Amino acid sequence: MREHGGTTPRRRGRAWRATPAVGIALLAALWCLPGLLDRYALPVVRPYLPNASAPPPGVEASRAPLGTPPVVADADGYRFMDSPAPEQEMVAYDPCRPVHWVVRPDGAPPGGQQLLEEAVAEVSAATGLRFVYDGTTTEGPSAQREPYQPERYGRRWAPVLVTWSDAAEHPDLAGDVAGLGGSTARRAPEEPLVYVTGQVTLDTPSLAGMMQRPESVRAVILHELAHVVGLDHVDDPEQLLYGDTVGVTGFAAGDRAGLARLGAGQCVPQV
Ligand SMILES: [Zn+2]
Repeated sequence: MREHGGTTPRRRGRAWRATPAVGIALLAALWCLPGLLDRYALPVVRPYLPNASAPPPGVEASRAPLGTPPVVADADGYRFMDSPAPEQEMVAYDPCRPVHWVVRPDGAPPGGQQLLEEAVAEVSAATGLRFVYDGTTTEGPSAQREPYQPERYGRRWAPVLVTWSDAAEHPDLAGDVAGLGGSTARRAPEEPLVYVTGQVTLDTPSLAGMMQRPESVRAVILHELAHVVGLDHVDDPEQLLYGDTVGVTGFAAGDRAGLARLGAGQCVPQV
């Protein structure tokens, strides 16, 4: 656990806090775009066993990655989310299958959907991961979201869920938090951990007030999506994944180096 950056008057003691969850450790962190913060949760190891709580393994898995990350110069200035498996440096999505995503559009500010689609396209380009938009959903955000919901999404891992929300619905958005982003990992025996689904939870009151600067709202979404695909905060103020970014509205060299590596994860059809 750690807190990023110094204190500002707007933070009013909003230090990190741990969120208990069943059998897993949650890592919370803070980030700020002009005065705004985010949190993300790093979910963790749970043995994967195909059963009622998991889909059949290998849904949509191809034999080769569906895309290729761009060739970028290696650069400092990125960090992967802490891996719960000591022998595994990074946890990533399986590049041999698409990353499905859905949106609960309720309360979205005008233009919000376009910013989302632009941000997803940018993360897709930066990782080589293929994202597939599955349309809208009525599912709301939850810190205890079930990653397999066959009644709602069929016999596959639930898609990445993007919601426009607020603190009344999701208490972790209270105060100056602009968004939350993170993913859930699973593993099959003897196989690497792999992300199977994730969430981006956006604080509508914060972001609706920033829509006159759409590049700043897009930056928040990019930042949260970068958490979803596996990037952690860094100490380099020129990166979008810096803890206290002000004025950085796109991925910088370190962000891009990390995203390219996260797009070259291992294919794990056993999950
Ligand atoms: Zn963040």
